[in-house]
Amino acid sequence: MKEEMIQLSIPTPFAVGDVHAYVLKGEAVTLVDCGPLTNEAQHAFVTQLKEHRLSIDDIDQVVLTHHHADHVGLLNMMKPHVRVLGHEVNEPYISQNPAFMQRQIDFMDQFFHQLGVPLHQHECEKIVKESYTYSCHAYLDGVLKEGDRLHGHEHFLVMETPGHAQSHLSFLDESTGDLIGGDLLLTTISSNPLMEAPDEGEERQKSLLQYKASLNRLLTLPIHTIFPGHGQLITSHHELIEERFKKQEKRANAIYQLLKQQELTAFHLCRTLFPVLYEEALFLTMSETVGQLDVLLASGQIEEIQKDGILYYRAI
Ligand SMILES: [Zn+2]
Repeated sequence: MKEEMIQLSIPTPFAVGDVHAYVLKGEAVTLVDCGPLTNEAQHAFVTQLKEHRLSIDDIDQVVLTHHHADHVGLLNMMKPHVRVLGHEVNEPYISQNPAFMQRQIDFMDQFFHQLGVPLHQHECEKIVKESYTYSCHAYLDGVLKEGDRLHGHEHFLVMETPGHAQSHLSFLDESTGDLIGGDLLLTTISSNPLMEAPDEGEERQKSLLQYKASLNRLLTLPIHTIFPGHGQLITSHHELIEERFKKQEKRANAIYQLLKQQELTAFHLCRTLFPVLYEEALFLTMSETVGQLDVLLASGQIEEIQKDGILYYRAI
Protein backbone atom coordinates (compact mmCIF):
# COMPACT_ATOMS: atom_id res chain seq x y z
CA MET A 1 0.00 0.00 0.00
CA LYS A 2 1.32 3.40 -0.97
CA GLU A 3 1.80 5.59 2.03
CA GLU A 4 0.41 9.08 2.02
CA MET A 5 1.74 12.04 3.99
CA ILE A 6 -0.48 15.07 4.52
CA GLN A 7 0.79 18.37 5.86
CA LEU A 8 -1.53 20.36 8.13
CA SER A 9 -0.78 24.00 8.97
CA ILE A 10 -2.12 25.13 12.30
CA PRO A 11 -2.02 28.70 13.61
CA THR A 12 -0.09 29.47 16.80
CA PRO A 13 -0.03 32.56 19.02
CA PHE A 14 3.76 32.60 18.70
CA ALA A 15 6.02 34.76 16.52
CA VAL A 16 7.08 31.69 14.55
CA GLY A 17 3.63 31.51 12.91
CA ASP A 18 1.90 28.30 11.85
CA VAL A 19 3.07 24.93 13.05
CA HIS A 20 2.97 21.94 10.70
CA ALA A 21 1.54 18.62 11.77
CA TYR A 22 1.73 15.59 9.48
CA VAL A 23 -0.75 12.79 8.96
CA LEU A 24 0.76 9.51 7.80
CA LYS A 25 -1.71 7.14 6.20
CA GLY A 26 -0.21 3.69 6.05
CA GLU A 27 -1.07 0.58 8.00
CA ALA A 28 -2.00 2.99 10.77
CA VAL A 29 -3.18 6.57 10.70
CA THR A 30 -0.52 8.49 12.56
CA LEU A 31 -0.42 12.14 13.46
CA VAL A 32 3.04 13.63 13.92
CA ASP A 33 2.68 16.59 16.31
CA CYS A 34 -0.49 18.64 16.68
CA GLY A 35 -0.90 22.32 17.45
CA PRO A 36 -1.11 24.59 20.48
CA LEU A 37 -4.15 24.49 22.70
CA THR A 38 -6.17 27.40 21.29
CA ASN A 39 -9.62 27.61 19.72
CA GLU A 40 -8.13 28.77 16.42
CA ALA A 41 -5.78 25.81 16.31
CA GLN A 42 -8.56 23.36 17.14
CA HIS A 43 -10.73 24.78 14.41
CA ALA A 44 -7.97 24.70 11.79
CA PHE A 45 -7.00 21.17 12.76
CA VAL A 46 -10.52 19.73 12.46
CA THR A 47 -11.24 21.66 9.24
CA GLN A 48 -8.05 20.51 7.54
CA LEU A 49 -8.59 16.89 8.56
CA LYS A 50 -12.06 17.13 7.05
CA GLU A 51 -10.64 18.46 3.76
CA HIS A 52 -8.72 15.18 3.58
CA ARG A 53 -11.83 13.19 4.52
CA LEU A 54 -10.48 12.45 7.96
CA SER A 55 -11.70 13.09 11.47
CA ILE A 56 -10.11 12.91 14.90
CA ASP A 57 -11.69 9.44 15.30
CA ASP A 58 -9.53 8.11 12.46
CA ILE A 59 -6.26 8.85 14.26
CA ASP A 60 -4.67 5.73 15.78
CA GLN A 61 -1.60 7.28 17.34
CA VAL A 62 0.18 10.60 17.82
CA VAL A 63 3.95 10.73 17.57
CA LEU A 64 5.79 13.77 18.97
CA THR A 65 8.89 15.44 17.57
CA HIS A 66 9.32 17.29 20.89
CA HIS A 67 7.47 18.67 23.87
CA HIS A 68 7.02 22.38 23.03
CA ALA A 69 3.47 23.69 23.46
CA ASP A 70 2.95 24.52 19.77
CA HIS A 71 3.57 20.84 18.93
CA VAL A 72 1.62 19.12 21.72
CA GLY A 73 -1.23 21.33 23.00
CA LEU A 74 -3.97 19.69 20.95
CA LEU A 75 -3.23 16.32 22.53
CA ASN A 76 -6.07 17.42 24.82
CA MET A 77 -8.47 16.84 21.92
CA MET A 78 -7.43 13.25 21.22
CA LYS A 79 -9.76 10.37 22.00
CA PRO A 80 -8.85 8.03 24.88
CA HIS A 81 -7.96 5.14 22.52
CA VAL A 82 -5.27 7.18 20.75
CA ARG A 83 -1.74 6.19 21.71
CA VAL A 84 0.77 8.97 22.33
CA LEU A 85 4.39 8.15 21.55
CA GLY A 86 7.61 10.10 21.81
CA HIS A 87 10.93 10.49 23.60
CA GLU A 88 10.62 9.75 27.30
CA VAL A 89 11.70 13.32 28.17
CA ASN A 90 8.30 14.52 26.88
CA GLU A 91 6.44 12.98 29.79
CA PRO A 92 6.88 15.54 32.60
CA TYR A 93 6.23 18.40 30.16
CA ILE A 94 3.09 17.06 28.47
CA SER A 95 1.64 15.91 31.81
CA GLN A 96 2.59 19.20 33.52
CA ASN A 97 4.05 17.22 36.41
CA PRO A 98 4.05 19.62 39.40
CA ALA A 99 7.26 18.24 40.96
CA PHE A 100 9.05 18.63 37.63
CA MET A 101 7.74 22.15 37.18
CA GLN A 102 9.13 23.05 40.60
CA ARG A 103 12.47 21.51 39.58
CA GLN A 104 12.46 23.70 36.45
CA ILE A 105 11.79 26.79 38.56
CA ASP A 106 14.54 25.89 41.07
CA PHE A 107 17.02 25.16 38.27
CA MET A 108 16.31 28.46 36.58
CA ASP A 109 16.44 30.37 39.86
CA GLN A 110 19.86 28.93 40.77
CA PHE A 111 21.42 28.89 37.33
CA PHE A 112 20.26 32.38 36.39
CA HIS A 113 21.69 33.66 39.66
CA GLN A 114 25.07 32.11 38.73
CA LEU A 115 24.82 33.67 35.28
CA GLY A 116 24.36 37.11 36.80
CA VAL A 117 20.71 37.59 35.83
CA PRO A 118 18.94 39.78 38.40
CA LEU A 119 15.75 37.72 38.56
CA HIS A 120 13.55 36.87 41.53
CA GLN A 121 12.16 33.41 42.16
CA HIS A 122 8.63 34.57 41.33
CA GLU A 123 9.85 35.85 37.95
CA CYS A 124 11.43 32.46 37.23
CA GLU A 125 8.15 30.85 38.21
CA LYS A 126 6.31 33.12 35.79
CA ILE A 127 8.64 32.30 32.89
CA VAL A 128 8.41 28.54 33.53
CA LYS A 129 4.63 28.56 33.93
CA GLU A 130 4.14 30.68 30.83
CA SER A 131 5.83 28.00 28.74
CA TYR A 132 2.87 25.73 29.56
CA THR A 133 0.12 28.22 28.64
CA TYR A 134 -0.86 26.52 25.38
CA SER A 135 0.26 23.04 26.34
CA CYS A 136 -1.71 19.91 27.19
CA HIS A 137 -2.39 17.50 30.01
CA ALA A 138 -1.45 14.19 28.43
CA TYR A 139 0.65 11.09 29.01
CA LEU A 140 2.97 8.94 26.94
CA ASP A 141 1.66 5.47 26.12
CA GLY A 142 4.98 4.40 24.72
CA VAL A 143 8.56 5.58 24.40
CA LEU A 144 10.42 5.95 21.10
CA LYS A 145 14.20 5.62 20.97
CA GLU A 146 16.99 5.91 18.45
CA GLY A 147 16.74 3.09 15.90
CA ASP A 148 13.06 2.30 16.51
CA ARG A 149 10.57 2.07 13.64
CA LEU A 150 7.24 3.85 13.58
CA HIS A 151 4.51 1.29 14.17
CA GLY A 152 2.38 1.03 11.02
CA HIS A 153 5.08 2.82 8.97
CA GLU A 154 8.08 0.53 9.33
CA HIS A 155 10.13 2.41 6.71
CA PHE A 156 10.27 5.40 9.10
CA LEU A 157 13.39 5.30 11.25
CA VAL A 158 13.33 7.10 14.61
CA MET A 159 16.36 9.29 15.25
CA GLU A 160 17.23 11.13 18.45
CA THR A 161 18.19 14.67 17.43
CA PRO A 162 18.58 16.66 20.67
CA GLY A 163 19.52 20.33 20.90
CA HIS A 164 16.45 22.44 20.27
CA ALA A 165 14.83 20.24 22.92
CA GLN A 166 16.11 17.26 24.92
CA SER A 167 13.02 15.37 23.77
CA HIS A 168 13.63 16.04 20.09
CA LEU A 169 13.15 13.19 17.60
CA SER A 170 13.21 13.18 13.80
CA PHE A 171 11.71 10.54 11.54
CA LEU A 172 13.47 9.46 8.35
CA ASP A 173 11.52 7.65 5.66
CA GLU A 174 14.26 5.40 4.34
CA SER A 175 12.25 4.52 1.24
CA THR A 176 12.02 8.13 0.00
CA GLY A 177 14.60 10.18 1.92
CA ASP A 178 11.86 12.33 3.43
CA LEU A 179 12.64 13.52 6.92
CA ILE A 180 10.02 14.77 9.34
CA GLY A 181 12.30 17.15 11.15
CA GLY A 182 10.28 18.97 13.81
CA ASP A 183 12.19 22.11 14.76
CA LEU A 184 15.63 20.72 14.00
CA LEU A 185 16.09 22.85 10.89
CA LEU A 186 13.78 25.64 9.70
CA THR A 187 14.07 28.02 6.77
CA THR A 188 12.38 30.97 8.44
CA ILE A 189 14.35 31.20 11.67
CA SER A 190 17.34 29.50 13.23
CA SER A 191 15.81 27.27 15.85
CA ASN A 192 17.27 27.96 19.27
CA PRO A 193 18.83 25.29 21.38
CA LEU A 194 17.11 25.84 24.73
CA MET A 195 18.34 25.33 28.29
CA GLU A 196 16.46 22.65 30.15
CA ALA A 197 16.49 21.53 33.77
CA PRO A 198 18.66 18.41 34.06
CA ASP A 199 17.52 15.16 35.65
CA GLU A 200 17.99 15.01 39.38
CA GLY A 201 21.68 14.70 40.24
CA GLU A 202 22.66 15.09 36.60
CA GLU A 203 24.55 17.88 34.87
CA ARG A 204 22.94 20.34 32.52
CA GLN A 205 23.03 19.23 28.88
CA LYS A 206 25.03 21.50 26.58
CA SER A 207 22.23 22.08 24.12
CA LEU A 208 24.10 24.04 21.43
CA LEU A 209 26.81 21.38 21.27
CA GLN A 210 24.11 18.73 20.95
CA TYR A 211 22.34 20.81 18.33
CA LYS A 212 25.48 21.16 16.21
CA ALA A 213 26.04 17.41 16.43
CA SER A 214 22.44 16.79 15.33
CA LEU A 215 22.87 19.11 12.33
CA ASN A 216 26.19 17.46 11.44
CA ARG A 217 24.44 14.12 11.52
CA LEU A 218 21.88 15.36 8.97
CA LEU A 219 24.77 16.06 6.57
CA THR A 220 25.67 12.36 6.57
CA LEU A 221 22.17 11.02 5.85
CA PRO A 222 20.52 10.31 2.48
CA ILE A 223 17.90 13.02 2.94
CA HIS A 224 15.89 14.31 0.02
CA THR A 225 13.32 16.65 1.56
CA ILE A 226 12.87 17.87 5.11
CA PHE A 227 9.28 18.34 6.24
CA PRO A 228 9.75 20.88 9.03
CA GLY A 229 7.65 21.95 12.01
CA HIS A 230 7.40 25.50 10.63
CA GLY A 231 7.90 27.19 7.25
CA GLN A 232 8.68 25.79 3.83
CA LEU A 233 9.87 22.32 2.87
CA ILE A 234 13.66 22.11 2.74
CA THR A 235 15.34 20.55 -0.30
CA SER A 236 18.82 22.05 0.09
CA HIS A 237 19.57 21.29 3.69
CA HIS A 238 23.35 21.22 3.18
CA GLU A 239 23.38 24.92 2.27
CA LEU A 240 21.02 25.85 5.07
CA ILE A 241 23.09 23.98 7.65
CA GLU A 242 26.26 25.70 6.40
CA GLU A 243 24.48 29.04 6.82
CA ARG A 244 23.45 28.14 10.36
CA PHE A 245 26.98 27.09 11.25
CA LYS A 246 28.41 30.32 9.84
CA LYS A 247 25.98 32.40 11.86
CA GLN A 248 26.82 30.49 15.03
CA GLU A 249 30.53 30.87 14.41
CA LYS A 250 30.08 34.61 13.94
CA ARG A 251 28.20 34.91 17.22
CA ALA A 252 30.74 32.77 19.09
CA ASN A 253 33.51 34.94 17.71
CA ALA A 254 31.71 38.14 18.76
CA ILE A 255 31.58 36.77 22.31
CA TYR A 256 35.21 35.72 22.18
CA GLN A 257 36.27 39.23 21.09
CA LEU A 258 34.33 40.77 23.99
CA LEU A 259 35.92 38.35 26.44
CA LYS A 260 39.38 39.20 25.13
CA GLN A 261 38.82 42.73 26.40
CA GLN A 262 37.46 41.88 29.84
CA GLU A 263 35.88 39.11 31.87
CA LEU A 264 32.11 39.21 31.86
CA THR A 265 29.05 37.37 33.12
CA ALA A 266 26.71 35.57 30.74
CA PHE A 267 24.02 38.15 31.45
CA HIS A 268 26.32 41.03 30.55
CA LEU A 269 27.15 39.28 27.27
CA CYS A 270 23.49 38.60 26.60
CA ARG A 271 22.57 42.29 26.97
CA THR A 272 25.44 43.27 24.72
CA LEU A 273 24.49 40.76 22.02
CA PHE A 274 20.74 41.28 22.23
CA PRO A 275 20.24 44.85 23.51
CA VAL A 276 16.66 45.05 22.26
CA LEU A 277 15.50 41.46 22.54
CA TYR A 278 16.90 40.37 25.88
CA GLU A 279 14.18 41.79 28.10
CA GLU A 280 11.16 40.35 26.35
CA ALA A 281 12.89 37.12 25.35
CA LEU A 282 15.17 36.60 28.33
CA PHE A 283 15.05 32.82 28.37
CA LEU A 284 15.65 32.51 24.64
CA THR A 285 18.50 35.00 24.50
CA MET A 286 20.15 33.61 27.64
CA SER A 287 19.88 30.09 26.17
CA GLU A 288 21.65 31.34 23.06
CA THR A 289 24.38 33.08 25.08
CA VAL A 290 24.98 30.10 27.36
CA GLY A 291 25.09 27.86 24.27
CA GLN A 292 27.84 29.95 22.70
CA LEU A 293 29.78 29.98 25.98
CA ASP A 294 29.51 26.18 26.11
CA VAL A 295 30.98 25.99 22.60
CA LEU A 296 33.86 28.34 23.46
CA LEU A 297 34.55 26.45 26.70
CA ALA A 298 34.55 23.12 24.86
CA SER A 299 37.02 24.42 22.27
CA GLY A 300 39.30 25.73 25.02
CA GLN A 301 39.11 29.36 23.90
CA ILE A 302 37.67 30.70 27.14
CA GLU A 303 37.55 29.76 30.81
CA GLU A 304 34.99 30.08 33.57
CA ILE A 305 35.82 31.52 37.00
CA GLN A 306 33.46 31.52 39.94
CA LYS A 307 33.47 34.48 42.34
CA ASP A 308 30.97 34.74 45.19
CA GLY A 309 28.65 32.29 43.44
CA ILE A 310 28.66 34.20 40.13
CA LEU A 311 30.27 32.79 36.98
CA TYR A 312 32.61 35.00 34.95
CA TYR A 313 34.07 34.17 31.57
CA ARG A 314 37.35 35.27 30.04
CA ALA A 315 39.41 34.50 26.95
CA ILE A 316 42.45 32.30 27.43
ZN1 LIG B 1 10.10 23.79 19.40
